[in-house]
Amino acid sequence: MRIGWGFIGASTIARQWMVDAVNARGEVGVTQEVVALMSTNKARGTAFAHEMGIAGVYQNIDDLLADPAVDAVYISTTNELHKSQVLAAAAAGKHVLCEKPLALNIEDAVQMVQACREVGVVMGTNHHLRNAATHQAIRRQIESGVIGDVVAMRIFHAVHLPENLQTWRINKPQAGGGVILDIVVHDADTVRYLLGEDPIDVMAYAQHAGMAETIEDGAMTIMRMPSGALVQSHESFVVPFAGTGLEVHGTKGSIFARGVMTQQSVGEIEVVTEQGRQLLEVVPHNLYAHSLQKFALAISEKAQPAVTGEDGVKSLAVALAVAQSAVTGQRVEINYPVF
Ligand code: NDP
Repeated sequence: MRIGWGFIGASTIARQWMVDAVNARGEVGVTQEVVALMSTNKARGTAFAHEMGIAGVYQNIDDLLADPAVDAVYISTTNELHKSQVLAAAAAGKHVLCEKPLALNIEDAVQMVQACREVGVVMGTNHHLRNAATHQAIRRQIESGVIGDVVAMRIFHAVHLPENLQTWRINKPQAGGGVILDIVVHDADTVRYLLGEDPIDVMAYAQHAGMAETIEDGAMTIMRMPSGALVQSHESFVVPFAGTGLEVHGTKGSIFARGVMTQQSVGEIEVVTEQGRQLLEVVPHNLYAHSLQKFALAISEKAQPAVTGEDGVKSLAVALAVAQSAVTGQRVEINYPVF
């Protein structure tokens, strides 16, 4: 089987990670290739395609979707554009891998998932952290019961937004900028994946810590889980040396993971129980290549991608609740859509 990818958006993530991830040789017996790119800017699109060895360059989405070599699209434009582009791709019968956050509100995200369902194309959300070997190892540890019942979890995902990304994320709320839609949404997905349950409600604060003027550039949240576990998270655009990580604390042990909230295949995990401290051995793999291999399997075997469209909707619901709580100062219950 062969999948021809159409990339919608000449974006940084496409350039830094996703073209290479498509080209990476997977183990699933599927050949993948980026066959076309769409950019609204002709010069930027042409330069990008030339640099990345992509044959087709288009300036509008209908032309890319009409290209018979395109079987699936990867959407990595700014967030306010995801909805119309997913709907157009579904209408053209193309499989869709869409960047997070899926949309700026739940109604739009649900509509996107339903459009893909109706025509029977695969839809995935590109939350990369579920694809990390480290996160997969942590989940296996939790599921094995080695740390007992999970009582609490902490996530540190506070970074310094690189200068080249200090554009719409910090100055364009209408494009879905701000740390909540950028990073909290990833952390919400990580919590849901690792603990295997969806937060009931959240209380959060957001801050303007000096980088963004009108949008939040830092947030802290407490989430309450159906099991009774509490989760605390910290996200930021303005702290260069905090380091990232997460901790999961159970009745029989704790997991300490450092450097794991990242795009790189790095990080260390230590499990501490009555038996002592043990460093987990993890064989790293490229997170985005893993995501694409799972997506290829989803197409060929009618299986689930690593992160479904429905997952993207639920993780967005958590992030939007965080945003609402930060504005209102109130606890916000999360009403997940029923599909
Ligand atoms: P970029 O800012 O790099 O690109 C977004 C859009 O901006 C592109 O589609 C492009 O438009 C336009 N653009 C790109 N470069 C320039 C430039 N030099 N001058 C003017 N316009 C430009 O976005 P990111 O790659 O940072 O993010 C894209 C999406 O991916 C977002 O939804 C984000 O949330 C998500 N993301 C996900 C990550 C993950 O790990 N899952 C990591 C990083 C981002 P055009 O298409 O018209 O060329």
